[in-house]
Amino acid sequence: METFLTKSPNEAAEFIKKGGVVAFPTETVYGLGANVFDEKAVAKIFEAKMRPADNPLIAHVGSLEQIKLLASEINETAQKFIEAFFPSPLTLVLPKTKEVPLIATANLETIGVRMPNHKLAQEFLKACKTPVVAPSANLSGKPSPTIWQAVYEDLNGRIDCILQGEQTIVGLESTVVDCTSAPLLVLRTGAITLEQLQMIVPETQLYQVKENESVKSPGLKHRHYSPRARVYLLESGKWKAESGKNAAFIGLNRPSIEFDLVKICSSIEEYAHEVFAFFRECDAQKIKTIYCETVEEKGIGLALMDRLRRASET
Ligand code: AMP
Ligand code: MG
Repeated sequence: METFLTKSPNEAAEFIKKGGVVAFPTETVYGLGANVFDEKAVAKIFEAKMRPADNPLIAHVGSLEQIKLLASEINETAQKFIEAFFPSPLTLVLPKTKEVPLIATANLETIGVRMPNHKLAQEFLKACKTPVVAPSANLSGKPSPTIWQAVYEDLNGRIDCILQGEQTIVGLESTVVDCTSAPLLVLRTGAITLEQLQMIVPETQLYQVKENESVKSPGLKHRHYSPRARVYLLESGKWKAESGKNAAFIGLNRPSIEFDLVKICSSIEEYAHEVFAFFRECDAQKIKTIYCETVEEKGIGLALMDRLRRASET
């Protein structure tokens, strides 16, 4: 099966209505979507991505009204976050309704809900007339796709359709907050920062996996964001790379060593926007080692460092 390419959100939505899977752009990364209430369609997402069945999916809505189809209860704090941030790169974990099949939530009684702040994504979701579950549209473990060509590279022939949009804006996956826990826990950092969340609900905390405790966010235990090349983190100014041969560098400051491929970003936001596409470009150019400059863990720097650390794990 050749994957159908289109720029039309209505055309792409037709595949969802027929039980198919469609990759579509959002402000974070490209997602691979299916009708949340269609178990067979949801199963196709796991198959196409080769995603472990214990990794839950995030449901995307095209309107605030659709949240009620997914969540059985929206408590006061969740309501505050919705009012303050939706639509945005923020996912709220809420108790699920009985209509949401367990395959979508990896057997959890909760569901992650997000309303993307992205024109094409919203047009597509509205045309689907149903909430759409969508993990990142990459093969499991690979860097998330921020351009449609990256989706094509991983999933051509494995999915029904790609809705072709521009490069995504943020470049990192959404912030995930568990609204069913007290205190509220940030399960995954993203463009909506801890500082922003704490302005609305001061008790919000970063989740840290404790030993001997099962992971609250199942996705955290899987290998993630990894290019084929080996990734190393380098502290600014402490250039220790032994050789720049077959090696690449991405960061904010120009290193004193020569590399085959160098990307200097003018801000942490640009670094976040570019990093996954850079990883893929390195693989295409058969780079063996990628050195990533570390950044201050503040604002979106916290999310960027999280992704870089995971990419560097072997
Ligand atoms: P992805 O869509 O590939 O970025 O992955 C979504 C991530 O969101 C998962 O790997 C989980 O870590 C997290 N997530 C989604 N739904 C839930 C949930 N119901 N409870 C906890 N974490 C969730
Ligand atoms: Mg993912």
